[in-house]
Amino acid sequence: MADDLRAQARHWRTAADALTLLRARSGLTRRELGERLGLGSGGVSDLASRLRAARLIVERTVSARGAGRPTSTWHAHPEAPVALAVDLRHGDWRLGVCALDGEVTMLVAGVHDGDPDRSLALLRRRVTAAARSLEGRVVSVGVAVPGQVSGARLLQASMLGWRDVDLARLGAGAGVPVLAGNDASMAAIAEARVHPARPAVLLHLVAEVGLGGAVVVDGRPVPGARGLQGEFGHLPLADPGLACPCGAHGCWGVAFDPREVARRLGDPTPADPRGYLGGLLARPDVPDAVLRLREDLATRLGRGLAGLVNVVDPDVVTLGALAGPVRDAAPARFADAYDLGLMTLHRDRPPLLATATAGADAVLAGVGLTALDQTLDAARLASWAEGR
Ligand SMILES: [Zn+2]
Repeated sequence: MADDLRAQARHWRTAADALTLLRARSGLTRRELGERLGLGSGGVSDLASRLRAARLIVERTVSARGAGRPTSTWHAHPEAPVALAVDLRHGDWRLGVCALDGEVTMLVAGVHDGDPDRSLALLRRRVTAAARSLEGRVVSVGVAVPGQVSGARLLQASMLGWRDVDLARLGAGAGVPVLAGNDASMAAIAEARVHPARPAVLLHLVAEVGLGGAVVVDGRPVPGARGLQGEFGHLPLADPGLACPCGAHGCWGVAFDPREVARRLGDPTPADPRGYLGGLLARPDVPDAVLRLREDLATRLGRGLAGLVNVVDPDVVTLGALAGPVRDAAPARFADAYDLGLMTLHRDRPPLLATATAGADAVLAGVGLTALDQTLDAARLASWAEGR
């Protein structure tokens, strides 16, 4: 009997490991899963039937590359556990469902007035209603925020003007745990899992309202001790006379803040910061002052990115949100500054550099997958299977 229980526990640990791999890498085949888990074809077949019987996965046959036999890829069963994923941004929010294979279904989006209590009460109602409609399948809620987080606490989000806010209340009505994540780190997870080069070390740099990002190793962002990692925009690469809202001086990201851009160009403070800067970068016929600004931003981006590559040694670099358009608005200036800043070893063999490809739902996918990572352990899977 005890042996039986031990074998069961071992099976569910393997199942939890398999699902973790599935979340970290899009499109893994059954064969690759077997290799990563150290299972032969019999072992991986047993595992697949166990997961199918528990209504956790379905399999789809795919033709093998080269002369190999066909294999299959694993996808979320339509009745499998899910996480709700919230992307809370300056001025608006989005709520989606993240399946255990990273597929995101958008549910609803809306605006908020920036007041933490009112905004979170509104979101909690939406989360509770969504959980109810999913009939017991929601195991956790992931919330991505434009700031620094620790567990379910938002430590600081300068763009929202929020400090020390408990986000756990979002899951109270649904009765599930909440996990918070920095939005740039969450997007980086999604980039790493879908990038065709299968990066071992991915550096994701995001320009949105300032600069941020993450280093992702084997599908997971490199953590800090207090959740403060990835604040690339606060490298002191700019004029030390320039004060940053973070409290430091000379921060690299200040020049990319649309409000600072508007100040430089003599424009009023933009109501929609992202739209304002995006428009400046994309418009075809612009005055000389805007052309000079584009060149300046592309130069600053190239120079700082070279520094990050020298430090991190990534095999892939992805440019998220407006970082791609900043580069593309003055590509020669970007390339000059980037090359000049790279160590010879990197200049001779530079990492792949590309605009982010995970799309508009990257943040929702990243935070949903992270919330599932935190919840779907072996014990949870075993009790899920028992209830089927
Ligand atoms: Zn700063």
